[in-house]
Amino acid sequence: MRDLKLLKSMVEINSSTVDGQNKMIELLKNYLSPHANKIKIIGKERKNILAFFGDMKSKNILLFNGHVDTVSASKDDFKFNPFSLVEQDDVLFGRGTGDMKGGIYCTLNAIIRAKNEKLLKDKLIIFAGTCDEETGSDSEFGASAVVDYFLTENLIPSACLIPEPNKFNAPLKINLGHRGLIWIKAVSTGIKMHSGSVHKEDNAIVSLEDFLHSLRKKLTNQPKKDKKGIPCSSARVTNIKSDNDEFNVVPDLCECNIDVRVSPLDKNKDILKMIQKLAVKYGIKLEVLKNTPSSMIKRKERILQELVGVCEEENFEYEIGYSSATCDAHFFNNAKIPTVVGLGVDAKNVHANDECISKKSFQKCEDVMFNLIKRW
Ligand SMILES: [Zn+2]
Repeated sequence: MRDLKLLKSMVEINSSTVDGQNKMIELLKNYLSPHANKIKIIGKERKNILAFFGDMKSKNILLFNGHVDTVSASKDDFKFNPFSLVEQDDVLFGRGTGDMKGGIYCTLNAIIRAKNEKLLKDKLIIFAGTCDEETGSDSEFGASAVVDYFLTENLIPSACLIPEPNKFNAPLKINLGHRGLIWIKAVSTGIKMHSGSVHKEDNAIVSLEDFLHSLRKKLTNQPKKDKKGIPCSSARVTNIKSDNDEFNVVPDLCECNIDVRVSPLDKNKDILKMIQKLAVKYGIKLEVLKNTPSSMIKRKERILQELVGVCEEENFEYEIGYSSATCDAHFFNNAKIPTVVGLGVDAKNVHANDECISKKSFQKCEDVMFNLIKRW
């Protein structure tokens, strides 16, 4: 029987809050202390954990990163309490089970198993549990603070794996990169007037509408993939409101939120320049709220070769691709730590109601990590 105690305790913490994320770090610290050679907590108000296993002097370093935060969940929207691990027909429900407490759970099992089997003689394995990923992967407190620590200590991992979830019963997805994002608030102004008037209107809603219409001609709202399977840039309007509640008044202010996702093949600054040009044309003011770069590693990187080797050896079906979502991998890649995203547990409803994972996928996920460590 698989011991689910750690996973259960993780799901019971609501780590959509700062307090919950610090509790997660405390839980991992207590859990890992008997096993790790060294534990290092990074950050004061917002904590991260580093746990070191194996040969502390080795330069052959493999890093596993898991973010400890989740998006929020409401008890009313979930079939079961999202903050308790509920099992039904081999499926485990709970917020964060897929993204990505299940991945963290399997990673730690794999590291401890490799340690107990004395496979860490010539290598250093580091687990980094980091905070504040779900707010746009641009935080200075999470993975970014961990990378700063690596740089000041001159302790640069040779590669990193972030076990973000896989789809149910799908081939294992090995992601070489992820899209970036730009979160923009667009504000349009006009002149308030009686909507029954025969005078020419300067309607804030219409100007914004025209701007969004031409933006849609430049950037699709339905993300596509190119021939190589790389997700294209896209833009989606996620909120729109005016300052007016009256049925018969033309508003003088209208604003919307646009979530722009940037392909690993595009640059944030080029996409932003294009949107700014359109904004000038339609008299729209833009406020950039977040600007997180995309990232991508080369196919020749050792981490990819080893992962492909593991999958082929174990006869696991796999697929090399790119993540359409944004994550913290860019922080590591920018510090020249080649990072692969994926190979976590099989999950459904990530970021949605009734998030759940397949218990059957645990063994495969753990075996991938274990064999990767063994090969490293
Ligand atoms: Zn995630």
